[in-house]
Amino acid sequence: MAAIVVEELTRDYGPIRAVDHVSFTVEPGEVFALLGPNGAGKTTTVEILEGYRSPDGGRVSVLGFDPATGGRAYRERIGIVLQSAGFEEEFTVGELIRMQAALYPRRHDPDELAELVGLADRSRTRVKALSGGQRRRLDLALGLAGAPDLLFLDEPTTGFDPAARHHAWDLIERLRRLGTTILLTTHYIEEAQRLADRVAVLRDGHLVALGRPSELEALCGLPTRITFSLPPTAAAADLPGVSGSVTLDDRTVVIRTHQALADTHALTGWARARGIDLPGLTLTPPTLEDAYLSLTGEPADDDS
Ligand code: ATP
Repeated sequence: MAAIVVEELTRDYGPIRAVDHVSFTVEPGEVFALLGPNGAGKTTTVEILEGYRSPDGGRVSVLGFDPATGGRAYRERIGIVLQSAGFEEEFTVGELIRMQAALYPRRHDPDELAELVGLADRSRTRVKALSGGQRRRLDLALGLAGAPDLLFLDEPTTGFDPAARHHAWDLIERLRRLGTTILLTTHYIEEAQRLADRVAVLRDGHLVALGRPSELEALCGLPTRITFSLPPTAAAADLPGVSGSVTLDDRTVVIRTHQALADTHALTGWARARGIDLPGLTLTPPTLEDAYLSLTGEPADDDS
């Protein structure tokens, strides 16, 4: 049985259609990322799955429950980590984790949980003395307190410094290895690429792409870039014929091609026949970021 089933989900806010006939499934143990620009419909979709909003059309099922009517039995199976949960500042980390865990019949051991999120040495620290990154770890610990089968993670690393982000990613990977299904919303392409088994891209309430990160890159039909510096002894007009489009910026040649192997072969054969080098020769396949920008119609730095 799929962990999450979303079929033709639709939700309106007055005249605004926030989610428009969106369908996807998430398998047990999968890390699934919802990506999309501001206003794409991610939060609305997740809030419906969490049972905090009702759909106007379509059907959702999470762990076999209808989230709107699943009640306590449903809540005991899921964990929710919001972007900024409020804490009681005077309590200690250990107290909050123990209180939260006590609410659930099936629960993680509080000490193990503190250890898991990297707060073992902060157990006796009051919340008011925690850094921003440590608070997010506490958010995560509280979301995991009931040993959930499914964790909703809303932009888990927004505002993190690079070290804290990598720490959070390691933690999410550990959770995946423990078999927790994770639905992640994020604005960070790198985060989705690093963590997600599959990615759904939303735009203006529509699902515009769904697949493994590597599939999305191919799906968009984006070209590979071949880059090198034009050798001093050669002119652009001397370059061999290639299938891709050639641009020259100063003396940097960029070829955007769907036949990277054949074009590279033509270029290197040409260079070797003339006994010259192609300095800085680099092949750059399209990235998930390129795919995302192409799917969401957002302006890219590079027009590839
Ligand atoms: P962000 O990345 O900015 O959080 P999002 O992808 O989560 O965006 P939603 O918050 O689901 O997008 O919003 C989808 C659309 O619905 C937007 O046009 C938004 O303005 C609108 N919307 C969301 N919540 C409400 C609300 N409570 N009342 C009216 N319109 C809303």
